[in-house]
Formats: sequence, structure tokens, C-alpha cells
Amino acid sequence: MQSIWNGVKESDHRLSLDKDIKRDIVIVGGGISGLLMGYRLMQSGREATLIEANTLYSGVTHNTTAHLDAMQGYVYSDLIKTSPQKAKLYFQSQLDAIEEYQKIIDTYKIDCDFKRLDSFMFTINDMKKLEEEYNALKEIGADVELVKEKMLNIDIQGAIKLKNQAQFHPIKFLEKLPKEYEIIENTRVLKVDTKNKILYTQKAEIHANIIIIATGFPIIDIPGFYFLKMYKSSSYSIAFKGAKLDAVYQSDLENGLTYRGYDDYVIMGGLDHRTGRLNHKDKFNRLREKAELSFGKELEYTHTWTANDCITADGVPYAGQYSKSRKDIYVMTGYNKWGMTNSMASSKVICDLITQKPNKFIDLFSPQRKKTNPAHCVVNLLSTVKNLVFKPVSFPDRNVDALKPGEGDIVLYEGRKKAVYRDLDNRLYVVEPLCSHLKCQLKFNSETKTWDCPCHGSRFDIYGKIVVSPTTKNLKVHNGKE
Ligand SMILES: Cc1cc2nc3c(=O)[nH]c(=O)nc-3n(C[C@H](O)[C@H](O)[C@H](O)COP(=O)(O)OP(=O)(O)OC[C@H]3O[C@@H](n4cnc5c(N)ncnc54)[C@H](O)[C@@H]3O)c2cc1C
Repeated sequence: MQSIWNGVKESDHRLSLDKDIKRDIVIVGGGISGLLMGYRLMQSGREATLIEANTLYSGVTHNTTAHLDAMQGYVYSDLIKTSPQKAKLYFQSQLDAIEEYQKIIDTYKIDCDFKRLDSFMFTINDMKKLEEEYNALKEIGADVELVKEKMLNIDIQGAIKLKNQAQFHPIKFLEKLPKEYEIIENTRVLKVDTKNKILYTQKAEIHANIIIIATGFPIIDIPGFYFLKMYKSSSYSIAFKGAKLDAVYQSDLENGLTYRGYDDYVIMGGLDHRTGRLNHKDKFNRLREKAELSFGKELEYTHTWTANDCITADGVPYAGQYSKSRKDIYVMTGYNKWGMTNSMASSKVICDLITQKPNKFIDLFSPQRKKTNPAHCVVNLLSTVKNLVFKPVSFPDRNVDALKPGEGDIVLYEGRKKAVYRDLDNRLYVVEPLCSHLKCQLKFNSETKTWDCPCHGSRFDIYGKIVVSPTTKNLKVHNGKE
């Protein structure tokens, strides 16, 4: 299962860390957040070191659909209820981010299929809500239109049109983004001593003056408590040939679809759900059915992939000081599946905080801002409690013998509760059933053949190896080895 962006990265493997080092600024995470952060600091004359657990842009960034769009579901009608100023600032931050991409691409002549185009958000059944979003966008000064024409061969009730948004190839962009600073790959940060600013890796320690956590879901639990402020949501994507698009589209539903073109392909994504929660079967078939409704049956399917991203209470990311009690530690996360524009905006906020420059978006993105929706924290807390306290002590319904080939589940294995996958040749892969992050009970994802954590979205392969953070430890396998 590979995304459409696969195969572009040149194989410039950087060395892993094997001796202790001391550095000024250390960025943890080599996705688009970490790389834009490194670029900004480099531009400001500060020396940074970036440390990546795997290889550059191998995380969510490799699995994005890369719309650059300020229209993002119902975020503005939500934000405007508590603060029109906040809604206006957020919109501005997204437009500025797209401009900034264009500036960088022009300056360095980066060939990354960047294209300006119109964006549409349509509804098939909730015109009232769509009109609310349209009115909110109008009120904050957005140049939007309400249109009713049929699009994507779907009988819509209406759509909001926002001109001059964009799309690009994220990996081509990142490959050519200047990186004249130290980059260390294949080195996972296992623990951070936040008081003394020491990062521990398998073979060595890094002593830093400033640390920036750009790992997607943050790897430090306390202080910060991001595991109460956010959750992870999974999305599924497909690409196919046989159709063309000259605009970007999104449906208004929370688990709705996005559509864009790239070269000879159309990329469709969506069917979102909280990671580790749903039965994952048939997501790709459902996407194919939707594709055929819009583009007919003569499509050549080329790629399928899935990934997850962090969701915040108010639809705005967290970028700034990690916690009030830790001055020189920063975080950039919580992009709500709009991380292309938000990583650009967040990197500017943090760079300006470090270099003490004014930035009108600092309060908007501040992780310490007042929560607009305390219910979100309660829901996250209850979900964590359920999967952390009740599930781990519950008894499995099934014995390992009941597992069919190709199936994974939490079952009784040799009298103990284990996470077991049976492959098509009847071989068993047995790992610990609790996540190595905060001990929530894992759930098997049959589309990706991974064990997913329903609390904070860590993901492991059938051998117990980390696929997605925030965890920093592999799962114990049945014979006790990691
Ligand atoms: C299916 C999907 C479609 C999307 N489509 C869009 C879109 O159209 N437009 C848009 O704006 N956004 C989109 N997004 C969101 C966007 O892709 C993400 O928000 C963004 O890529 C996140 O980038 P990141 O650098 O923060 O995280 P990542 O790309 O995940 O990078 C984090 C890096 O940190 C590393 N890491 C983790 N733990 C450690 C550790 N302990 N030590 C060292 N390194 C570590 C990881 O290996 C990883 O490389 C989409 C998201 C999904 C899931």
C-alpha cells in the first residue's frame, strides 16, 4: 500500500546518531513540519539539527493529498461563534501560507506541480449549514460565491466556491527545499528530559538549548497533556487514471470526500474516523464506488493508502511553547488534516517566537489558549479511560483457534490475552495487546494489517514495530523480545 507520491525521494540516507552531541536547536521529526521549521531557522541565521526516526517525509506527509486550501469544512462558522477576530485571523493565516509556498517555489524554482485553482465545498443534504459557513466566510471578508451547478456528476444542493487556492506535489517540494543544516535520520528519540533539555536515543544523548517537537502527535506526555487535548483520525485515499480535474473539491460531511487532480490521475480521499475505532473493511471499495459514480466505470486504479492526523478541539493547530512550565520547548501539531498550510503557518509562528519577532498569529495558535470546547477534552478523557482502564482488564471473547487466515484480533493465546494476527499461510504473529504508549488496548486494522491505538493513534505492524508515533517503544512479541 503506497501513496501516489512514492518513488520521488532520492536515496540520500543520512547517518544515524551514535555519539553524544550538544546542539543549539533540535527539531524532532522530519515531516513537512520539521523541514519547514529547519528551513525557517536557517533563513533566520539560526543553526538547527533535525532528527528523524525513519527517513525524511516518511510519515503522514508521505500520505497526504496535498490540497493547499483555506476552505476547510465548517471551521469558520464554528470559530466565528466565539470570536469573529479568530475566524478572520485563521483564514488569513491559511492564505498567507499558500502565498509563502508560492514565494519559496518561485525563489528556488522548485518544480513540484504547484498549481493555483478554484476550490469548491459542496453539500448534498445540508444547505442550511453550508449557508452558515458561506455567511461566516463573507463576514470575515473572504471572496466566496454560492453556486448550485451540478459537479462531479453529483446532484448537490449547493457549493461554496473560493478562488485561487492551490495543489502541489509535497515530496517534490520537500526534496528541493533548501536543507543546509544538520539532518540525522534513522534515530528515534526515546525520551526527553524536559527540565534539562536532554533527548535520549538508542545509542546517544543530545543536549539542546531549544527543542521543537514536530513528530505529529507529540511524544512528551507530561507536561503538555496533549493526549487529552487531541485525538487522531484516520483517512483513506485512492488514485486512478481515466479522469481529469481542474479544481479541488471537498464534500461538507465530517467523514466526507476530497477530490483533486495530479498529472493523469485523480486523487480521492476521506471516509475519516477516529483511529482504532471502526471496522476498517471495504473502505477502498467504498471509495472506488464513489469514484465510479462521478467518473464512470472505465477507471484504472493505481494506488491505495491510509494515514492519520491529529484533531484539536477548535479546528486550529497547536504551535508555540510546549507548556507554560517549559520555556525553550516548542510544539507544532494538531493540523486537523490541513497540515500543508498549517505547517507553513506554524513554522513561522515558532521561528518568530524563538527569534523574538512579532507575529499576529502567535495567540491564535498558542497551545495555551483558552479552550473553546471543553467537551472535547472530556470526550478524549472518557475514551482514554474506557480503552485504558476497562478494555485492558476485559476478557477476550475468542480463542486463537477461532481466527481465520488474514484476520487479527485480541484473543486468548496459550491462556493469556494477546494481539494475534493469522496470515494466509496460517502462521501466527503474537504481540502484546496493550499500546506501549499509555497502555490502551489495541485494535486490528484489516486494511493496513496494523495494530492501531484507539486512544492516541499509535500504530504497529504485525511484528510489533512502530509505524506511527506518539509511542517510542515497539510492542513486546510473544517470546518476550522487542
Ligand atoms: C490521508 C490524509 C490526507 C491529507 N490531506 C491533506 C491535504 O489535502 N491538505 C492538507 O493541508 N493537509 C492534509 N493532510 C494533513 C497533512 O498531511 C499532515 O497534517 C502533515 O503531513 C503532518 O506533517 P508533520 O510533519 O507534522 O507530520 P509527519 O509527516 O507525520 O512527520 C512527523 C515525523 O516525525 C517522526 N517521528 C515520530 N516520532 C519520532 C521520534 N520519537 N523521534 C524522531 N522522529 C520521530 C516520524 O517518523 C515522521 O517522519 C492529510 C492528512 C491525511 C492523513
